[in-house]
Amino acid sequence: NTFAEIDLGDALNENIRRCKYVKPTPVQRHAIPIAIAGRDLMACAQTGSGKTAAFCFPIISGILKSRPPQRQRGSRTACPLALILSPTRELSMQIHEEAKKFSYQTGVRVVVAYGGAPIHQQLRELERGVEILVATPGRLMDLLERARVSLQMIKYLALDEADRMLDMGFEPQIRKIVDQMDMPPRGVRQTMLFSATFPKEIQSWFQY
Ligand code: AMP
Repeated sequence: NTFAEIDLGDALNENIRRCKYVKPTPVQRHAIPIAIAGRDLMACAQTGSGKTAAFCFPIISGILKSRPPQRQRGSRTACPLALILSPTRELSMQIHEEAKKFSYQTGVRVVVAYGGAPIHQQLRELERGVEILVATPGRLMDLLERARVSLQMIKYLALDEADRMLDMGFEPQIRKIVDQMDMPPRGVRQTMLFSATFPKEIQSWFQY
């Protein structure tokens, strides 16, 4: 019933303390151990339930446990290890802010990319290196078409408010994004999906 009981690692536990989170919320208590064990998961959770931490903690912990981040600075094509897709600019910005707090002083860099804003600043941030990319589907497609992001190294995929992304018509983009990740050489990828409902289209965003 405490975060210390879950094996998240010292650096992340320190940041959780800094955020003054004392005990996990219900979705965190259920989802984090499954995700830490490397399993895919679908979870039903509302805004305010603590779902952002539920997918960020396993991602950050997993990246830190696998190896210290080694990134190629100044590379034109960014190769994030984790992708967090969200339907809107506002939600992406919120996730980015939270994820930065959780990864404070760990060397894990979080970058956000959303539409409706100039792309150049986002490109500069990507060039400085990225382990975790938070993005809206449309802007990510743009970055993929410009070859400024590659999904070859993705080990963690989190889809937040998946039903809203479906309602907003992002199915074709998400289909393409998932298909790119399924192209060889495909490593093991873990998918965490958060949604209020789970229609067939959303279930097909998992890898098989
Ligand atoms: P979310 O549902 O991810 O938007 O989170 C809602 C709010 O709850 C955010 O302000 C989080 O910082 C906060 N929060 C998340 N998990 C915890 C926790 N275990 N203890 C206290 N606050 C939390």
